[in-house]
Amino acid sequence: MTCDTPTKAAAYFHLENGGARCELCPNSCLIPPGQTGLCRVRQYQEGYGLVTTSYGNVSAIALDPIEKKPLYHFYPGTNILSLGTFGCNLRCRFCQNWHISQSTKAADTITPQAVVQMAKEYKAANCIGVAFTYNEPTIWYEFIWDTAKAVHAADLKNVLVTNGFISSGPWQELLPMIDAVNIDVKAWSEEFYRELCGGSLQPVLDNAQTAADYCHVELTYLIIPGHNDDLASLEGFARWVRQWLGAGTPIHFSRYFPNYQLDIPPTPIGIMEKAQRIASEWLDYVYLGNVEIAGASHTYCPFCQALVIERSRSAAPRIYATQGHCPDCGMKLPLIIGT
Ligand code: SF4
Repeated sequence: MTCDTPTKAAAYFHLENGGARCELCPNSCLIPPGQTGLCRVRQYQEGYGLVTTSYGNVSAIALDPIEKKPLYHFYPGTNILSLGTFGCNLRCRFCQNWHISQSTKAADTITPQAVVQMAKEYKAANCIGVAFTYNEPTIWYEFIWDTAKAVHAADLKNVLVTNGFISSGPWQELLPMIDAVNIDVKAWSEEFYRELCGGSLQPVLDNAQTAADYCHVELTYLIIPGHNDDLASLEGFARWVRQWLGAGTPIHFSRYFPNYQLDIPPTPIGIMEKAQRIASEWLDYVYLGNVEIAGASHTYCPFCQALVIERSRSAAPRIYATQGHCPDCGMKLPLIIGT
């Protein structure tokens, strides 16, 4: 089904001299008539006002393991229907998905009802719901809003994999419909965000804290050698997570590979191991992703060190926890596991 009528955008106001100011994300774009905002998917159209040009447009849709989001403590071993559109409100020079984040072309169109129908049909394949992912989902706000409502009505889960760069008002309105988020913290430095991403860190941290009041939260930090892998950054990040989200919050250090406008060599394995070591002094669950290191993505009990979940890239995880408890010492762990 195609979407012929422009869908009115949320979170904007008209300007006296024409055009609009979008307030969906901290960029607060001033958008003259006929133009789009920085994300490329919110356009001022005479007669309509600010509209979203990506409503119902999908660039990719697939049934993925939940671990691929990555979410390691939210229904491990299940699958989730994953979809995304195009555009982004950041300009990360190292973007690992730049083919869709910098595009304005969709592969297909879909309705919220069709998404829910697909997710329901996949229930037999252990599908727990819908993940909005691949590009930045928060700029797909109106479509996510409608879809997430229908997903919950069907007793399924909603997941967001996001850069967390959204204004606090729209974020707080959306969160009651979201069950889990993975938020990218791209570095522990405003300078990094300004120079390599065209954004800022503080709103992301504020939004991560707010999210923790509503749903399950995991964080991802892509380690780029020479840019965000220094001791002060890694320790500062880990300490902040411990203080504001809790030591039981899972974090994922992901290995960088050259992409888009950054062509320095991939992150050395030793740096990945160092990051895990440093963060583990403050946090209970520190995982490495995009890398093959034995045991680096397993879950261990922080009380007795027993193996709780064994993960590999090629097979489904083996879950030894029983109803979220350590199989050896019996301590309750911060795991959401289906019955
Ligand atoms: S959502 Fe898009 S148009 Fe709106 S402020 Fe952010 S970048 Fe600009």
